[in-house]
Amino acid sequence: MTRFAPGKPARSPKALMPTLSPLSPGATIGILGGGQLGRMTALAAAQLGYRSHIYCPEADAPATQVTSLTSIADYRDEAALADFAKAVDVVTYEFENVPFIAAETLARLVPVHPGPEVLRICQNRLREKDFCRSADVPTTRFAAVRGAQDLHDRVAEFGRPCVLKTAELGYDGKGQVAIERDTDLDAAWAKVAEAAATAGAVLESFVDFRLEISVIVARGLDGARQTYVPVENQHKNHILDQTIVPARVSEKVADKAEGIARHLAEEIGLAGLLAIEMFVTADSQVLVNEMAPRPHNSGHWTLDAAVTSQFEQLVRAIAGLPLGAPDRLTDAVMKNLLGEEAAAAQAAWSDPNEKLHLYGKVEARPGRKMGHTTKLIRR
Ligand code: AMP
Repeated sequence: MTRFAPGKPARSPKALMPTLSPLSPGATIGILGGGQLGRMTALAAAQLGYRSHIYCPEADAPATQVTSLTSIADYRDEAALADFAKAVDVVTYEFENVPFIAAETLARLVPVHPGPEVLRICQNRLREKDFCRSADVPTTRFAAVRGAQDLHDRVAEFGRPCVLKTAELGYDGKGQVAIERDTDLDAAWAKVAEAAATAGAVLESFVDFRLEISVIVARGLDGARQTYVPVENQHKNHILDQTIVPARVSEKVADKAEGIARHLAEEIGLAGLLAIEMFVTADSQVLVNEMAPRPHNSGHWTLDAAVTSQFEQLVRAIAGLPLGAPDRLTDAVMKNLLGEEAAAAQAAWSDPNEKLHLYGKVEARPGRKMGHTTKLIRR
């Protein structure tokens, strides 16, 4: 028996608050998004006895290759969303740029975890930082910027260098302009003006960080929380290149970072996963940069080197199961394989300490995430 019979009329989200009895085997997890994160979530769901139903606009997306249940439709297609809601027992997402309206529409019909409000906060850098501020969690200094003159005024206030970002839809360095000593501010504004017109823009002071880390926290329907160890993220061209597990930080910094993650999960009312990217400064401050309410690239190591992978943890969390142990089994280094790098990584097949994962993407476009390797550092 599943908790929510498909096809029931819409009820208020409050009435849909789940009971603590877990989803029964054979229940269906609905996943918005068809990328590799959805693929790995669907595989974890299968391991736990659940089906997955993928909703995404693209045919033959990585996640649709591992389940026969798919809805290929636009995220704003109300009829398709209603059919999807009837077919699933709970909905989650594998990327945060799903239109908010899709999550909101679905939440009237079926439980959506993390809830639409979590998505709304994480979709917008200003809301995200305001939320951190309201939760007493430190971020880099920031301010909303509403136009070219506003940018001049704020830069005068913040000093250079600083970073101008669109408030929404920027990722992997997209929608960002570094403001250096000689950057022309009108030209900088022109680069973000179109995106800023609808979603706003934010100016951040430049953080001279020692390293970048992330923490993934899970929170179950019963409010239980588990964090994975902080990991260290190294980027190339603004895209994650490798993740070093654990991060090379003191115990004090690691505790602080995990404490922030647990606190944010509680304050935001999380059910599911929240990945939090942070800067660690030379004087051991930990500043939140951004949050994602889903599995995260920096958590891929958990597939091979943790007791419970982040994907299994997400499924457990939203299915009402007890959370799994997040413990690390070995140290590890996860390396993303971008574009042609996947073809060049074949040696990993025969390395006993290396695990190769491929996402089923045929076209190796430059910068496209094709797979990853996890090197196990066994002592
Ligand atoms: P984001 O899209 O905010 O994750 O930014 C992408 C990358 O740009 C980060 O991982 C950092 O390496 C760098 N970055 C972003 N914001 C700042 C900042 N305020 N100070 C220094 N570096 C930044």
